[in-house]
Amino acid sequence: MKHDEAVRADIVEVGRRLYDRCFVASNDGNISVRLGDDRILTTPTGVSKGFMTPDMMVTTDLTGRKVIGDREPSSELLMHLAVYEHRPEIRSVVHAHPPTATGFAVAGIPLDRAVLAEVVTTLGSIPIADYGTPSTSELADAVRAHIKAHDGLLLANHGAVTVADELFAAYYKMETVEHFARISLVARQLGRERLLSREEVDRLQTLRDRYGIAAPAPLCSPESGDQLDVACQTLEAPSLPGQRLVDPEAVATGRITPGSGQLGDRDEVRLTYRQLTALIADAVTHLR
Ligand SMILES: [Zn+2]
Repeated sequence: MKHDEAVRADIVEVGRRLYDRCFVASNDGNISVRLGDDRILTTPTGVSKGFMTPDMMVTTDLTGRKVIGDREPSSELLMHLAVYEHRPEIRSVVHAHPPTATGFAVAGIPLDRAVLAEVVTTLGSIPIADYGTPSTSELADAVRAHIKAHDGLLLANHGAVTVADELFAAYYKMETVEHFARISLVARQLGRERLLSREEVDRLQTLRDRYGIAAPAPLCSPESGDQLDVACQTLEAPSLPGQRLVDPEAVATGRITPGSGQLGDRDEVRLTYRQLTALIADAVTHLR
């Protein structure tokens, strides 16, 4: 296990990275590391995570009571303590407000579609914990409901939290959550997402098992009906390979046509005379 001083320096480094990547603004976000069995080292309240020094960190016990430090511990410490209470193997918690992932959290859209193989094999699904007033036990309770089965959560109308068995792994998971959110946003702006099939998701679960990829819970299998079990990760994946998910709202507003972009070179498109005239008129308008 790393010495206390080395952990303080690592927290400073992770704080700088969160700030440099715009995952936090002003004094947002907080980081903690479990030291031994009964101590937590956490960032202090009221400082920018981009400009911390090792001496600013605060050591608390597992109830959040300050043991060492000139400053007060993070206001979100209760949420971190809830994670440590329910996941004994977790040694670090990172909380930030990365803009795209937080946008999904504000929109109430979980990142739970089987889209990227690497995300399926590592984080699995990223659900949304219910809204809780920051710094209160409400937020800690909301996190508690999901943390047993997930290493990454969105916090409704707030941000994201990631956990791991060491600090940098927890930070990298935050990078993955935001990167995945950005890719999902672009795909949805383009009008559709091609999801991985259920069969492929099952194959990825086998890879997880074979390579011993640490995941807090297996992916739920609809066949066994265990998707209602909170101890597995629910992922949206179609049973037919290659099935695409089209945003129904985009279709309703005419932004896209179902099936568009799915034609091969030799496929035929039939238009009525009126549609053809409208297309030509539109093209002429754009030429001007
Ligand atoms: Zn926050």
